[in-house]
Amino acid sequence: MKLIFKMYREIHSLDKRVLPMTLLHALASSFRPFINIYFSARLITLLTENADFKSLAVTVAVGVSLNLALFFIESFLSDYNENLKTLLLKKENKKVASILFKTDYEKLENSEFKELLHKHEEAEKSRWSRFPYFVWTTFRFLCGIFTLIISAVMIYPLIKIGFTATGNGFFEKPIFLITIILSIVIMAVIILLTAVNINKSYLSANESYAELDRIFYCFLDIFGNYSTGKDIRLYNEQNLIYSAATDRILTDGEKLLRKISAHTAKSSSFVAVLGALVGFGVYMFIGVKGLFGLFPISSLVLYCGAFMQIVNGVMMTANTLGKLAEIIPLAKCYFEIIETGGGMEYGEKELSGDSFEIEFKDVSFKYPESESYALKHINLTVHNGEHIAVVGRNGSGKTTFIKLMCRLYDATEGEILINGVNIKEYSKSSLAALYAVVFQDFKLFAEPVYRNVAANGEYDREKLYDCLEQSDIKDRILGMCDKENTYLYKNLDRNGVEISGGEAQKLALARALYKDSPVVVLDEPTAALDPVAENEIYTRFNSFVENKTAVYISHRLSSCVFCDRIAVFDNSELAEIGTHEELLASHGKYSGLWTAQAQYYV
Ligand code: ADP
Repeated sequence: MKLIFKMYREIHSLDKRVLPMTLLHALASSFRPFINIYFSARLITLLTENADFKSLAVTVAVGVSLNLALFFIESFLSDYNENLKTLLLKKENKKVASILFKTDYEKLENSEFKELLHKHEEAEKSRWSRFPYFVWTTFRFLCGIFTLIISAVMIYPLIKIGFTATGNGFFEKPIFLITIILSIVIMAVIILLTAVNINKSYLSANESYAELDRIFYCFLDIFGNYSTGKDIRLYNEQNLIYSAATDRILTDGEKLLRKISAHTAKSSSFVAVLGALVGFGVYMFIGVKGLFGLFPISSLVLYCGAFMQIVNGVMMTANTLGKLAEIIPLAKCYFEIIETGGGMEYGEKELSGDSFEIEFKDVSFKYPESESYALKHINLTVHNGEHIAVVGRNGSGKTTFIKLMCRLYDATEGEILINGVNIKEYSKSSLAALYAVVFQDFKLFAEPVYRNVAANGEYDREKLYDCLEQSDIKDRILGMCDKENTYLYKNLDRNGVEISGGEAQKLALARALYKDSPVVVLDEPTAALDPVAENEIYTRFNSFVENKTAVYISHRLSSCVFCDRIAVFDNSELAEIGTHEELLASHGKYSGLWTAQAQYYV
């Protein structure tokens, strides 16, 4: 119950219109069947009383008009609420996205958190989207309750008659009415249990179906994605993938759907038979009372209609209560995501001045859920204005070193100091402002060039072109149809341009330059560039970062020669540190790497 109220509060905070409009819609929908019942009974009364044509015509006109009016109101509310539900899903997703933006990077890598996100996404792809489905269930539940209330009011006189003993037979005693009421209650409980049962098996089948769905989307992605298009065509893999897709989706999917529908059909038939039995009892009760002349013929229509609506209302209410079995796990998943937080704590300190020294003091680090150390006992100080190269074999811990320096993760042991103060004491924004980083796996977005580079809606055009020039991509941008306003990629704009890996890397460099932070970090900044472009960029870049602190990770040792110092990582440890000449002279790891690379380049 707590979770259900929490869901209502959440839905209300996402959109204030949804719940009141659902209530109105349920009211309008529940009243409509009773208008027909009431006016049919009224007409019979008029006919039996030999009423004149005028009163008959007026009654028919009022009944039809009310019916029509309610029909229009109901249709309008139905359409309106459909749109509200679609919007609600968007708002729900927006909220999750805004939480994800704020979530710490460390958390995003956590496997439990990834699993949660996966479930959340799957729920949307499957037929059961979360809150809209809950709103629909609420609507059905309210319809059930309103139907029960209205029917109860209508049959109240009959109940009164039922409790007034008029004869000796079973059918004439209150015990008969009590039996009927009890059977309705028992029916409600059985329907509820059956609904829970159907929904549970539906849910487990749906999990398997969601898995198939996921595979289907994966195949769809393979077919539709032009980045996989080359390989599929060149290796002639169309048939292979196509038959794999159809086998999984059609054969397995059909089997699963058959199983679900057989189960649902059995349970629904059971509920229908039960409903019919109770209906039989109800007709008997009303019939017997009618037989004894306890109410006029017109009331017979009224009571029969109202009683059958009770059965209907009970079915609706119990059925929707059963659906909670599906909704609750999805809601739990949603709340777990949005209540996430609990990530890193940041301090209040702001970084000021223009001199920054970053010190790693005996830092060791293990990735969350990882057994082995990615960095061990690192002692290293990056001095202000220093250009330092970080080299080493793949997996030696270079990128991890950068991630810790930017506080994407916290050290497992030891501490990192900036200007002598623990990195944890600084505010998030001042750390973000300190670094301009180009990671190996940098990302550009399907947005205009200027937004990608300035990382902002507003930009300084002169500065933008200056940075584009420094990273050797100005001419390419000037050659685009809308210059800096041209969209990258075609996802959001048909005229968007596709850029090569090297061009993307140059734009990522321009973005780092535009940020103009005191510390520039480049992780394999020129891996996708040809040798001429690489040389060009290094020359320009060195002059640009001349007065800044710079940390380069590079596999091309020739580009590290110009750095003040070179740190060599090996097997998660800092193996050597010194100038190019010092390291060559010491004949250690660096000199080994240097000689090995020289072989390939000569
Ligand atoms: P480098 O940049 O030198 O190639 P990394 O710093 O990326 O090396 O990786 C160092 C070690 O940490 C490697 O063994 C790698 O497998 C591991 N590692 C990197 N990222 C993660 C991660 N997100 N989770 C677990 N282990 C990781």
